[in-house]
Amino acid sequence: MSKLKIAIQKSGRLSEKSLELLKQCGIQIPNSDRKLQTEATNFPIELLFLRDDDIHQYVEQGVADIGILGENEVLEKDKAVDLLERLGFARCRLSLAIPKDEVYTGISYFKDRKIATSYPKILSRYLSINGLAAEIEAIGGSVEIAPGIGLAHAIFDIVSTGSTLLMNGLKEVALVMNSEAVLIGYPGIGAAQKEILDRLCFRISAVRNAGEHKYILLNAPDAAVDKICALLPGMKSPTILPLVEEGWCSLHSVVREDQFWEVIDQLKTYGAQGILVAPIEKMIL
Ligand code: ATP
Ligand code: ZN
Repeated sequence: MSKLKIAIQKSGRLSEKSLELLKQCGIQIPNSDRKLQTEATNFPIELLFLRDDDIHQYVEQGVADIGILGENEVLEKDKAVDLLERLGFARCRLSLAIPKDEVYTGISYFKDRKIATSYPKILSRYLSINGLAAEIEAIGGSVEIAPGIGLAHAIFDIVSTGSTLLMNGLKEVALVMNSEAVLIGYPGIGAAQKEILDRLCFRISAVRNAGEHKYILLNAPDAAVDKICALLPGMKSPTILPLVEEGWCSLHSVVREDQFWEVIDQLKTYGAQGILVAPIEKMIL
């Protein structure tokens, strides 16, 4: 029987969340601590555990059908792979940073300066879009120490909290791109594998939608129902059930996580009471 081959990072910032996503999709993966390859027990999928640097290459060549990788790596390697889904974890940003005591004068600060980075392609695209000529010093890692040891004037690197920059006497001055984990695919994927991939993507979007929404139940005076329905349109439309108490009803709907608190404030002004909010495990639109 055909299997879909998926490449995921063996150990690093993407590994645990990649496996967790598959688990949330109901896919059981045997415990495979030291293995480089394993198969799911209840879904036609085979996992390859690799260095993140190699994943795009495996997918470009079709050795793996799909892979989970940081968007930053996908853009830097610039390989012929399809970007299938954004996965919402391993979020970080790629920024330019300079020694903290320097006065930043705007992007022209970098003109004719030397910038150390492990992402020379992304940086060079950014510089050329901004019409800036700067020298790029491509290095493999430990980029933050480059200004301190006199290798470069500035750096271009991944920032998540900014504490590494601070420890190295640097400050972030320009955001170049935001990154998150993405699902990439082999453009020449076979028909049987594509069918499995569609099933997997369906499950991934159910998991992702659920994470972005909450289930909400509340009691509302009948007079406020129209306004509340407009505020909480739900998936199709809210469910409304009459309460035993005259003039009141119970309303059930979904609310986006990122709008949640504003919606609650608004609901209170409409006279809603007994508001209950619950997590959603899967959401199929
Ligand atoms: P490997 O050993 O597989 O080559 P690595 O050390 O190159 O791993 P990780 O540090 O595990 O890679 O990072 C993998 C990805 O996680 C990055 O490419 C980036 O997309 C994302 N990421 C999120 N936050 C951070 C962060 N604070 N530092 C580095 N990467 C981060
Ligand atoms: Zn790597």
